[in-house]
Amino acid sequence: MRKLAMEIAVGSVPVLLIFLAYLGVNVTPLIILAIMVGSVYMLVKMRGGITATASQERKRKKVASTGLTFEEIGGQDSAKQELREALDFMVRHEEISKFGIRPIKGILLTGPPGTGKTLMAKAAAQYTNAVFVAASGSEFVEMYVGVGASRIRELFKEARTKALKEKKENAVIFIDEIDVIGGKREGGQQREYDQTLNQLLTEMDGIYTSEAPKILIIAATNRKEMLDSALLRPGRFDRHIQVDLPDKKGRRHILDIHSKNKPLAEEVSLDKVAEESYGFSGAQLESVMNEAAIYAMRDDQAEITQRHLSMAVDKVMLGEKTDRQSTEEEKRRVAVHELGHAVAAEVVAPGSVNQVVLSPRGRALGYVRHNPQEEKYLYTKSYLEGQIMIALAGAAAEEIYYGGRSTGSSNDFEQALNLVHTMMTSGLTSLGIIHMDMVTKEVLMHENSKILDELAARTKQLLIDNAAVFDKSLDILLREERLSGEQFRCQFRDSMNLPA
Ligand code: ATP
Repeated sequence: MRKLAMEIAVGSVPVLLIFLAYLGVNVTPLIILAIMVGSVYMLVKMRGGITATASQERKRKKVASTGLTFEEIGGQDSAKQELREALDFMVRHEEISKFGIRPIKGILLTGPPGTGKTLMAKAAAQYTNAVFVAASGSEFVEMYVGVGASRIRELFKEARTKALKEKKENAVIFIDEIDVIGGKREGGQQREYDQTLNQLLTEMDGIYTSEAPKILIIAATNRKEMLDSALLRPGRFDRHIQVDLPDKKGRRHILDIHSKNKPLAEEVSLDKVAEESYGFSGAQLESVMNEAAIYAMRDDQAEITQRHLSMAVDKVMLGEKTDRQSTEEEKRRVAVHELGHAVAAEVVAPGSVNQVVLSPRGRALGYVRHNPQEEKYLYTKSYLEGQIMIALAGAAAEEIYYGGRSTGSSNDFEQALNLVHTMMTSGLTSLGIIHMDMVTKEVLMHENSKILDELAARTKQLLIDNAAVFDKSLDILLREERLSGEQFRCQFRDSMNLPA
Protein backbone atom coordinates (compact mmCIF):
# COMPACT_ATOMS: atom_id res chain seq x y z
CA MET A 1 0.00 0.00 0.00
CA ARG A 2 2.77 2.39 1.02
CA LYS A 3 4.65 1.44 -2.11
CA LEU A 4 1.64 2.23 -4.33
CA ALA A 5 1.15 5.65 -2.73
CA MET A 6 4.87 6.32 -3.24
CA GLU A 7 4.67 5.37 -6.92
CA ILE A 8 1.61 7.61 -7.49
CA ALA A 9 3.42 10.50 -5.78
CA VAL A 10 6.59 9.99 -7.87
CA GLY A 11 4.55 9.71 -11.07
CA SER A 12 2.49 12.84 -10.44
CA VAL A 13 5.48 15.14 -9.76
CA PRO A 14 6.59 15.42 -13.45
CA VAL A 15 2.96 15.95 -14.51
CA LEU A 16 2.61 18.76 -11.99
CA LEU A 17 5.88 20.37 -13.11
CA ILE A 18 4.88 20.29 -16.78
CA PHE A 19 1.52 21.81 -15.87
CA LEU A 20 3.18 24.60 -13.87
CA ALA A 21 5.64 25.27 -16.72
CA TYR A 22 2.66 25.46 -19.09
CA LEU A 23 1.10 28.10 -16.84
CA GLY A 24 4.35 30.08 -17.12
CA VAL A 25 5.70 29.39 -13.58
CA ASN A 26 9.51 29.13 -13.27
CA VAL A 27 9.97 25.44 -12.24
CA THR A 28 13.83 25.33 -12.19
CA PRO A 29 14.16 25.74 -8.37
CA LEU A 30 11.52 23.04 -7.87
CA ILE A 31 13.39 20.63 -10.18
CA ILE A 32 16.67 21.24 -8.30
CA LEU A 33 14.90 20.66 -4.98
CA ALA A 34 13.30 17.42 -6.23
CA ILE A 35 16.68 16.12 -7.45
CA MET A 36 18.29 16.89 -4.08
CA VAL A 37 15.51 15.19 -2.06
CA GLY A 38 15.60 12.17 -4.42
CA SER A 39 19.39 11.76 -4.10
CA VAL A 40 19.34 11.93 -0.30
CA TYR A 41 16.52 9.36 -0.22
CA MET A 42 18.34 6.96 -2.56
CA LEU A 43 21.60 7.29 -0.60
CA VAL A 44 19.92 6.50 2.71
CA LYS A 45 18.10 3.56 1.15
CA MET A 46 21.24 2.13 -0.47
CA ARG A 47 23.25 2.34 2.73
CA GLY A 48 20.73 0.22 4.57
CA GLY A 49 19.02 3.19 6.17
CA ILE A 50 19.67 4.84 9.46
CA THR A 51 18.09 1.77 10.95
CA ALA A 52 18.13 -1.81 9.70
CA THR A 53 16.10 -2.44 6.56
CA ALA A 54 12.56 -3.69 6.82
CA SER A 55 13.42 -7.15 5.53
CA GLN A 56 16.15 -7.56 8.13
CA GLU A 57 13.74 -6.41 10.82
CA ARG A 58 11.26 -9.00 9.65
CA LYS A 59 13.91 -11.69 9.51
CA ARG A 60 14.97 -10.97 13.05
CA LYS A 61 11.39 -10.82 14.29
CA LYS A 62 10.83 -14.25 12.84
CA VAL A 63 13.53 -15.78 14.98
CA ALA A 64 12.80 -13.53 17.91
CA SER A 65 10.17 -15.70 19.52
CA THR A 66 12.02 -18.48 21.28
CA GLY A 67 10.45 -20.84 23.79
CA LEU A 68 12.76 -23.64 22.90
CA THR A 69 14.28 -25.45 25.85
CA PHE A 70 17.45 -27.52 26.18
CA GLU A 71 15.27 -30.65 26.36
CA GLU A 72 14.30 -30.11 22.73
CA ILE A 73 17.92 -30.32 21.60
CA GLY A 74 19.07 -33.86 20.98
CA GLY A 75 22.49 -35.18 22.05
CA GLN A 76 25.14 -32.52 22.72
CA ASP A 77 25.07 -33.39 26.41
CA SER A 78 28.44 -31.93 27.30
CA ALA A 79 27.90 -28.78 25.21
CA LYS A 80 24.53 -28.22 26.85
CA GLN A 81 26.02 -28.78 30.29
CA GLU A 82 28.86 -26.32 29.64
CA LEU A 83 26.47 -23.74 28.27
CA ARG A 84 24.10 -24.09 31.24
CA GLU A 85 27.00 -23.62 33.63
CA ALA A 86 28.05 -20.45 31.83
CA LEU A 87 24.49 -19.17 31.81
CA ASP A 88 24.16 -19.74 35.55
CA PHE A 89 26.51 -16.78 35.92
CA MET A 90 23.83 -14.63 34.33
CA VAL A 91 20.97 -16.15 36.31
CA ARG A 92 22.80 -15.90 39.64
CA HIS A 93 24.13 -12.41 39.01
CA GLU A 94 23.73 -11.22 42.60
CA GLU A 95 26.03 -13.88 43.95
CA ILE A 96 28.49 -13.13 41.21
CA SER A 97 28.71 -9.45 41.98
CA LYS A 98 29.22 -10.26 45.68
CA PHE A 99 32.32 -12.19 44.73
CA GLY A 100 33.41 -9.49 42.32
CA ILE A 101 33.36 -11.89 39.40
CA ARG A 102 33.10 -10.17 36.06
CA PRO A 103 30.13 -11.22 33.95
CA ILE A 104 30.43 -13.42 30.92
CA LYS A 105 29.92 -11.23 27.90
CA GLY A 106 30.41 -13.60 25.04
CA ILE A 107 30.11 -17.31 24.37
CA LEU A 108 31.46 -18.79 21.18
CA LEU A 109 29.85 -21.94 19.80
CA THR A 110 32.05 -23.81 17.36
CA GLY A 111 31.16 -26.78 15.22
CA PRO A 112 30.11 -28.09 11.83
CA PRO A 113 26.99 -26.74 10.10
CA GLY A 114 23.60 -28.00 11.23
CA THR A 115 24.68 -29.28 14.64
CA GLY A 116 22.25 -27.11 16.55
CA LYS A 117 24.23 -23.97 17.41
CA THR A 118 21.26 -21.70 16.68
CA LEU A 119 19.04 -23.97 18.77
CA MET A 120 21.51 -23.71 21.65
CA ALA A 121 21.43 -19.91 21.52
CA LYS A 122 17.64 -19.92 21.53
CA ALA A 123 17.53 -22.34 24.45
CA ALA A 124 20.04 -20.11 26.26
CA ALA A 125 17.66 -17.16 25.88
CA GLN A 126 14.81 -19.24 27.26
CA TYR A 127 16.94 -20.51 30.17
CA THR A 128 17.93 -17.00 31.22
CA ASN A 129 14.46 -15.56 30.56
CA ALA A 130 15.98 -13.18 28.05
CA VAL A 131 14.79 -11.56 24.86
CA PHE A 132 16.45 -13.06 21.80
CA VAL A 133 17.80 -11.05 18.91
CA ALA A 134 19.63 -12.77 16.06
CA ALA A 135 21.70 -11.67 13.08
CA SER A 136 24.13 -13.30 10.72
CA GLY A 137 27.67 -12.12 9.98
CA SER A 138 26.89 -11.78 6.30
CA GLU A 139 24.17 -9.22 7.05
CA PHE A 140 26.87 -6.77 8.11
CA VAL A 141 28.85 -6.94 4.93
CA GLU A 142 28.03 -4.03 2.70
CA MET A 143 29.69 -2.22 -0.10
CA TYR A 144 29.63 1.00 1.89
CA VAL A 145 32.06 1.67 4.67
CA GLY A 146 30.41 2.26 8.03
CA VAL A 147 27.12 0.50 7.35
CA GLY A 148 28.20 -2.73 9.09
CA ALA A 149 29.27 -0.79 12.17
CA SER A 150 25.99 1.10 12.33
CA ARG A 151 24.10 -2.19 12.05
CA ILE A 152 26.01 -3.56 15.03
CA ARG A 153 24.98 -0.48 17.03
CA GLU A 154 21.40 -1.06 15.89
CA LEU A 155 21.51 -4.67 16.99
CA PHE A 156 22.55 -3.78 20.52
CA LYS A 157 20.00 -0.97 20.62
CA GLU A 158 17.29 -3.33 19.44
CA ALA A 159 18.18 -5.85 22.16
CA ARG A 160 18.03 -3.15 24.86
CA THR A 161 14.73 -1.65 23.72
CA LYS A 162 13.15 -5.02 23.27
CA ALA A 163 14.16 -6.09 26.78
CA LEU A 164 12.73 -2.87 28.21
CA LYS A 165 9.51 -3.28 26.25
CA GLU A 166 9.06 -6.87 27.34
CA LYS A 167 10.21 -5.99 30.85
CA LYS A 168 12.97 -8.58 30.83
CA GLU A 169 16.23 -8.28 32.72
CA ASN A 170 18.36 -10.11 30.18
CA ALA A 171 18.97 -10.06 26.45
CA VAL A 172 20.74 -12.61 24.27
CA ILE A 173 22.22 -11.44 20.99
CA PHE A 174 23.04 -14.27 18.62
CA ILE A 175 25.47 -13.65 15.77
CA ASP A 176 25.75 -16.57 13.35
CA GLU A 177 28.76 -16.83 10.97
CA ILE A 178 30.84 -14.52 13.17
CA ASP A 179 33.89 -15.38 11.02
CA VAL A 180 32.51 -13.17 8.25
CA ILE A 181 33.08 -10.04 10.33
CA GLY A 182 35.56 -11.38 12.88
CA GLY A 183 38.18 -12.87 10.54
CA LYS A 184 41.86 -12.20 11.22
CA ARG A 185 42.81 -8.62 10.41
CA GLU A 186 45.71 -8.53 8.05
CA GLY A 187 47.38 -5.58 6.36
CA GLY A 188 45.32 -2.51 5.53
CA GLN A 189 42.66 -4.23 3.49
CA GLN A 190 39.08 -5.07 4.33
CA ARG A 191 38.52 -1.79 6.11
CA GLU A 192 34.78 -2.25 6.19
CA TYR A 193 35.06 -5.54 8.09
CA ASP A 194 37.52 -3.92 10.50
CA GLN A 195 35.08 -1.16 11.36
CA THR A 196 32.29 -3.64 11.95
CA LEU A 197 34.53 -5.76 14.15
CA ASN A 198 35.79 -2.71 16.06
CA GLN A 199 32.23 -1.65 16.69
CA LEU A 200 31.38 -5.11 18.02
CA LEU A 201 34.39 -5.01 20.34
CA THR A 202 33.45 -1.53 21.53
CA GLU A 203 29.89 -2.61 22.27
CA MET A 204 31.16 -5.66 24.14
CA ASP A 205 33.56 -3.60 26.20
CA GLY A 206 30.66 -1.35 27.12
CA ILE A 207 28.65 -4.13 28.77
CA TYR A 208 28.64 -3.87 32.57
CA THR A 209 27.20 -6.15 35.24
CA SER A 210 25.25 -3.40 36.89
CA GLU A 211 23.63 -2.23 33.71
CA ALA A 212 20.08 -3.32 32.88
CA PRO A 213 19.30 -5.22 30.75
CA LYS A 214 22.24 -7.61 31.03
CA ILE A 215 23.43 -8.52 27.57
CA LEU A 216 25.02 -11.80 26.54
CA ILE A 217 26.40 -12.31 23.06
CA ILE A 218 26.45 -15.80 21.65
CA ALA A 219 28.34 -16.21 18.39
CA ALA A 220 28.62 -19.25 16.16
CA THR A 221 31.21 -20.30 13.64
CA ASN A 222 32.52 -23.42 12.01
CA ARG A 223 35.94 -21.85 11.47
CA LYS A 224 37.25 -20.84 14.86
CA GLU A 225 40.86 -20.79 13.66
CA MET A 226 39.96 -17.93 11.31
CA LEU A 227 38.88 -15.57 14.10
CA ASP A 228 40.85 -12.51 15.11
CA SER A 229 42.54 -12.93 18.48
CA ALA A 230 41.04 -9.63 19.66
CA LEU A 231 37.64 -11.33 19.67
CA LEU A 232 38.84 -14.27 21.70
CA ARG A 233 40.71 -12.52 24.44
CA PRO A 234 39.46 -12.64 28.06
CA GLY A 235 36.50 -10.38 28.64
CA ARG A 236 35.12 -10.92 25.16
CA PHE A 237 34.35 -14.33 23.67
CA ASP A 238 36.25 -16.15 26.35
CA ARG A 239 33.93 -19.16 26.72
CA HIS A 240 34.32 -21.57 23.84
CA ILE A 241 31.91 -24.44 23.53
CA GLN A 242 32.40 -27.16 20.95
CA VAL A 243 29.18 -28.38 19.34
CA ASP A 244 30.19 -31.58 17.56
CA LEU A 245 28.47 -34.00 15.23
CA PRO A 246 26.31 -36.25 17.41
CA ASP A 247 27.41 -39.78 18.33
CA LYS A 248 25.02 -42.74 18.05
CA LYS A 249 23.22 -41.98 21.30
CA GLY A 250 22.88 -38.33 20.28
CA ARG A 251 21.58 -39.27 16.85
CA ARG A 252 18.96 -41.53 18.42
CA HIS A 253 17.88 -38.68 20.69
CA ILE A 254 17.58 -36.25 17.76
CA LEU A 255 15.60 -38.82 15.75
CA ASP A 256 13.28 -39.26 18.73
CA ILE A 257 12.68 -35.53 18.90
CA HIS A 258 11.89 -35.21 15.20
CA SER A 259 9.68 -38.30 15.06
CA LYS A 260 7.35 -37.08 17.80
CA ASN A 261 4.80 -35.64 15.37
CA LYS A 262 5.10 -38.49 12.83
CA PRO A 263 3.26 -41.83 12.58
CA LEU A 264 5.90 -44.56 12.87
CA ALA A 265 5.11 -48.22 12.14
CA GLU A 266 5.51 -50.65 15.03
CA GLU A 267 8.45 -52.41 13.34
CA VAL A 268 10.53 -49.25 13.06
CA SER A 269 13.84 -49.28 14.93
CA LEU A 270 15.21 -45.78 15.32
CA ASP A 271 18.34 -47.36 16.80
CA LYS A 272 19.01 -48.90 13.41
CA VAL A 273 18.52 -45.54 11.70
CA ALA A 274 20.90 -43.97 14.20
CA GLU A 275 23.44 -46.64 13.31
CA GLU A 276 23.03 -46.15 9.57
CA SER A 277 23.33 -42.37 9.78
CA TYR A 278 26.91 -42.24 11.04
CA GLY A 279 28.41 -38.79 10.50
CA PHE A 280 25.04 -37.04 10.05
CA SER A 281 24.38 -33.67 11.64
CA GLY A 282 21.19 -32.80 13.51
CA ALA A 283 19.90 -30.94 10.46
CA GLN A 284 20.50 -34.01 8.27
CA LEU A 285 18.69 -36.24 10.78
CA GLU A 286 15.74 -33.87 10.78
CA SER A 287 15.79 -34.14 7.01
CA VAL A 288 15.84 -37.98 7.19
CA MET A 289 12.63 -38.00 9.25
CA ASN A 290 11.03 -35.51 6.91
CA GLU A 291 12.00 -37.38 3.72
CA ALA A 292 10.82 -40.69 5.21
CA ALA A 293 7.43 -39.13 5.89
CA ILE A 294 7.29 -37.89 2.28
CA TYR A 295 8.11 -41.40 0.97
CA ALA A 296 5.35 -42.90 3.17
CA MET A 297 2.85 -40.34 1.91
CA ARG A 298 3.84 -40.98 -1.71
CA ASP A 299 3.32 -44.72 -1.11
CA ASP A 300 -0.18 -43.98 0.22
CA GLN A 301 0.69 -45.60 3.52
CA ALA A 302 -0.61 -44.53 6.89
CA GLU A 303 2.69 -45.09 8.67
CA ILE A 304 6.40 -44.61 8.08
CA THR A 305 8.18 -47.96 7.72
CA GLN A 306 11.83 -48.97 8.13
CA ARG A 307 12.16 -49.10 4.33
CA HIS A 308 11.07 -45.46 4.05
CA LEU A 309 13.65 -44.51 6.65
CA SER A 310 16.42 -46.42 4.85
CA MET A 311 15.50 -44.74 1.58
CA ALA A 312 15.56 -41.38 3.33
CA VAL A 313 19.04 -42.05 4.76
CA ASP A 314 20.26 -42.86 1.23
CA LYS A 315 18.68 -39.74 -0.13
CA VAL A 316 20.22 -37.45 2.46
CA MET A 317 23.61 -39.18 2.10
CA LEU A 318 23.77 -39.45 -1.67
CA GLY A 319 21.10 -37.18 -3.14
CA GLU A 320 17.85 -37.90 -4.96
CA LYS A 321 17.67 -40.64 -7.58
CA THR A 322 17.97 -39.12 -11.00
CA ASP A 323 16.71 -40.49 -14.28
CA ARG A 324 19.96 -39.70 -16.03
CA GLN A 325 20.42 -42.35 -18.70
CA SER A 326 23.91 -43.74 -19.04
CA THR A 327 25.19 -45.78 -21.97
CA GLU A 328 25.88 -49.51 -21.57
CA GLU A 329 29.60 -48.84 -21.72
CA GLU A 330 29.39 -46.16 -19.05
CA LYS A 331 27.26 -48.46 -16.89
CA ARG A 332 29.84 -51.25 -17.11
CA ARG A 333 32.63 -48.88 -16.13
CA VAL A 334 30.65 -47.66 -13.15
CA ALA A 335 29.95 -51.27 -12.13
CA VAL A 336 33.67 -52.11 -12.33
CA HIS A 337 34.55 -49.01 -10.31
CA GLU A 338 31.99 -49.63 -7.56
CA LEU A 339 32.86 -53.32 -7.33
CA GLY A 340 36.47 -52.31 -6.87
CA HIS A 341 35.45 -50.39 -3.76
CA ALA A 342 33.19 -53.22 -2.60
CA VAL A 343 35.78 -56.02 -2.97
CA ALA A 344 38.44 -53.98 -1.18
CA ALA A 345 35.99 -53.06 1.60
CA GLU A 346 34.94 -56.67 2.12
CA VAL A 347 38.55 -57.86 2.28
CA VAL A 348 39.68 -55.05 4.58
CA ALA A 349 36.61 -55.29 6.84
CA PRO A 350 34.70 -58.56 6.25
CA GLY A 351 30.92 -58.16 6.44
CA SER A 352 31.07 -54.42 5.84
CA VAL A 353 29.31 -54.21 2.45
CA ASN A 354 25.55 -53.70 2.69
CA GLN A 355 24.83 -53.43 -1.03
CA VAL A 356 26.26 -52.27 -4.35
CA VAL A 357 23.84 -50.33 -6.50
CA LEU A 358 24.02 -49.20 -10.12
CA SER A 359 21.58 -46.34 -10.20
CA PRO A 360 22.25 -42.68 -10.68
CA ARG A 361 21.83 -40.68 -7.48
CA GLY A 362 22.82 -37.08 -6.98
CA ARG A 363 26.04 -36.76 -8.90
CA ALA A 364 27.08 -40.41 -8.56
CA LEU A 365 26.19 -43.07 -11.13
CA GLY A 366 26.44 -45.93 -8.64
CA TYR A 367 27.38 -46.47 -5.02
CA VAL A 368 28.39 -48.93 -2.34
CA ARG A 369 26.42 -48.77 0.87
CA HIS A 370 28.37 -49.92 3.89
CA ASN A 371 27.02 -51.56 7.02
CA PRO A 372 27.31 -49.36 10.07
CA GLN A 373 30.60 -49.88 11.83
CA GLU A 374 31.31 -49.31 15.46
CA GLU A 375 32.03 -45.69 16.11
CA LYS A 376 35.71 -44.99 16.43
CA TYR A 377 37.41 -42.06 18.08
CA LEU A 378 40.95 -43.32 17.53
CA TYR A 379 42.35 -44.68 14.29
CA THR A 380 45.34 -46.96 13.93
CA LYS A 381 47.78 -46.81 11.03
CA SER A 382 46.49 -50.06 9.55
CA TYR A 383 42.88 -48.86 9.78
CA LEU A 384 43.73 -45.67 7.89
CA GLU A 385 45.69 -47.63 5.29
CA GLY A 386 42.68 -49.91 4.80
CA GLN A 387 40.41 -46.92 4.28
CA ILE A 388 42.85 -45.47 1.72
CA MET A 389 42.87 -48.79 -0.12
CA ILE A 390 39.05 -48.83 -0.24
CA ALA A 391 39.09 -45.30 -1.64
CA LEU A 392 41.72 -46.15 -4.27
CA ALA A 393 40.09 -49.46 -5.28
CA GLY A 394 37.58 -47.89 -7.72
CA ALA A 395 40.36 -46.42 -9.86
CA ALA A 396 42.49 -49.57 -9.45
CA ALA A 397 39.66 -51.75 -10.80
CA GLU A 398 39.23 -49.42 -13.79
CA GLU A 399 42.96 -49.69 -14.47
CA ILE A 400 42.83 -53.50 -14.41
CA TYR A 401 39.72 -53.78 -16.61
CA TYR A 402 40.18 -50.81 -18.91
CA GLY A 403 43.88 -50.04 -18.73
CA GLY A 404 43.22 -46.51 -17.47
CA ARG A 405 41.19 -44.32 -15.10
CA SER A 406 38.21 -42.01 -15.64
CA THR A 407 37.03 -38.76 -14.03
CA GLY A 408 34.85 -40.80 -11.67
CA SER A 409 37.65 -41.08 -9.11
CA SER A 410 38.23 -37.47 -8.16
CA ASN A 411 36.21 -37.68 -4.93
CA ASP A 412 37.96 -40.92 -4.00
CA PHE A 413 41.37 -39.31 -4.44
CA GLU A 414 40.33 -36.36 -2.32
CA GLN A 415 39.29 -38.74 0.41
CA ALA A 416 42.57 -40.68 0.10
CA LEU A 417 44.60 -37.46 0.29
CA ASN A 418 42.73 -36.37 3.41
CA LEU A 419 43.51 -39.70 5.03
CA VAL A 420 47.20 -39.40 4.12
CA HIS A 421 47.17 -35.91 5.62
CA THR A 422 45.74 -37.33 8.85
CA MET A 423 48.48 -39.94 8.89
CA MET A 424 51.16 -37.29 8.43
CA THR A 425 49.87 -34.95 11.14
CA SER A 426 49.52 -37.89 13.53
CA GLY A 427 53.12 -39.02 13.05
CA LEU A 428 52.13 -42.27 11.34
CA THR A 429 54.42 -41.97 8.31
CA SER A 430 58.13 -42.47 7.73
CA LEU A 431 58.61 -38.72 8.29
CA GLY A 432 57.94 -39.33 11.99
CA ILE A 433 56.42 -36.64 14.18
CA ILE A 434 56.33 -33.42 12.20
CA HIS A 435 54.64 -30.06 12.04
CA MET A 436 53.40 -29.50 8.52
CA ASP A 437 55.24 -26.16 8.33
CA MET A 438 58.54 -27.84 9.23
CA VAL A 439 58.86 -29.76 5.99
CA THR A 440 59.09 -28.50 2.46
CA LYS A 441 56.39 -29.12 -0.11
CA GLU A 442 58.74 -31.42 -2.01
CA VAL A 443 59.27 -33.66 1.00
CA LEU A 444 55.51 -33.81 1.64
CA MET A 445 54.84 -34.56 -2.04
CA HIS A 446 57.43 -37.31 -2.01
CA GLU A 447 56.00 -38.94 1.13
CA ASN A 448 52.47 -38.56 -0.18
CA SER A 449 53.24 -40.31 -3.46
CA LYS A 450 55.27 -42.99 -1.70
CA ILE A 451 52.30 -43.90 0.55
CA LEU A 452 49.71 -43.70 -2.22
CA ASP A 453 51.80 -45.63 -4.79
CA GLU A 454 52.48 -48.41 -2.34
CA LEU A 455 48.85 -48.69 -1.25
CA ALA A 456 47.63 -48.49 -4.87
CA ALA A 457 49.88 -51.42 -5.76
CA ARG A 458 48.60 -53.40 -2.76
CA THR A 459 45.01 -52.60 -3.77
CA LYS A 460 45.57 -53.78 -7.34
CA GLN A 461 47.06 -57.03 -6.08
CA LEU A 462 44.10 -57.51 -3.74
CA LEU A 463 41.68 -57.12 -6.67
CA ILE A 464 43.70 -59.50 -8.88
CA ASP A 465 43.71 -62.10 -6.08
CA ASN A 466 39.91 -61.85 -5.93
CA ALA A 467 39.32 -61.72 -9.69
CA ALA A 468 36.94 -64.70 -9.65
CA VAL A 469 34.64 -63.04 -7.07
CA PHE A 470 34.92 -59.81 -9.00
CA ASP A 471 33.86 -61.30 -12.34
CA LYS A 472 30.88 -63.22 -10.97
CA SER A 473 29.69 -60.21 -8.97
CA LEU A 474 30.07 -58.01 -12.06
CA ASP A 475 27.73 -60.29 -14.01
CA ILE A 476 25.04 -60.11 -11.32
CA LEU A 477 25.43 -56.37 -10.89
CA LEU A 478 25.13 -55.66 -14.61
CA ARG A 479 22.10 -57.93 -14.87
CA GLU A 480 20.22 -56.85 -11.75
CA GLU A 481 21.69 -53.38 -11.13
CA ARG A 482 21.88 -54.27 -7.43
CA LEU A 483 24.02 -56.71 -5.51
CA SER A 484 23.11 -57.34 -1.89
CA GLY A 485 25.76 -57.82 0.77
CA GLU A 486 24.61 -61.43 1.21
CA GLN A 487 24.86 -62.23 -2.55
CA PHE A 488 28.27 -60.64 -2.54
CA ARG A 489 29.57 -62.62 0.43
CA CYS A 490 28.19 -65.76 -1.18
CA GLN A 491 30.65 -65.23 -4.05
CA PHE A 492 33.50 -64.97 -1.56
CA ARG A 493 32.43 -68.21 0.16
CA ASP A 494 32.09 -69.97 -3.23
CA SER A 495 35.54 -68.89 -4.31
CA MET A 496 37.03 -70.36 -1.16
CA ASN A 497 34.72 -73.41 -1.23
CA LEU A 498 33.43 -72.52 2.20
CA PRO A 499 30.03 -73.75 3.41
CA ALA A 500 27.24 -71.12 3.29
P1 ATP B 1 24.70 -23.45 10.88
O1 ATP B 1 26.10 -23.54 11.36
O2 ATP B 1 24.54 -23.94 9.48
O3 ATP B 1 24.04 -22.14 11.14
P2 ATP B 1 23.52 -24.60 13.23
O4 ATP B 1 24.57 -25.38 13.93
O5 ATP B 1 23.19 -23.26 13.78
O6 ATP B 1 23.86 -24.54 11.70
P3 ATP B 1 20.76 -25.14 13.61
O7 ATP B 1 20.29 -24.00 12.76
O8 ATP B 1 20.68 -24.96 15.07
O9 ATP B 1 22.23 -25.53 13.20
O10 ATP B 1 20.00 -26.48 13.21
C1 ATP B 1 19.29 -26.61 12.01
C2 ATP B 1 18.11 -27.55 12.22
O11 ATP B 1 18.61 -28.87 12.41
C3 ATP B 1 17.29 -27.25 13.43
O12 ATP B 1 16.23 -26.39 13.15
C4 ATP B 1 16.79 -28.62 13.87
O13 ATP B 1 15.63 -28.98 13.16
C5 ATP B 1 17.89 -29.55 13.42
N1 ATP B 1 18.85 -29.86 14.49
C6 ATP B 1 20.18 -29.61 14.47
N2 ATP B 1 20.76 -30.07 15.60
C7 ATP B 1 19.79 -30.58 16.36
C8 ATP B 1 19.76 -31.20 17.65
N3 ATP B 1 20.89 -31.36 18.37
N4 ATP B 1 18.57 -31.61 18.13
C9 ATP B 1 17.44 -31.47 17.41
N5 ATP B 1 17.41 -30.91 16.20
C10 ATP B 1 18.55 -30.46 15.66
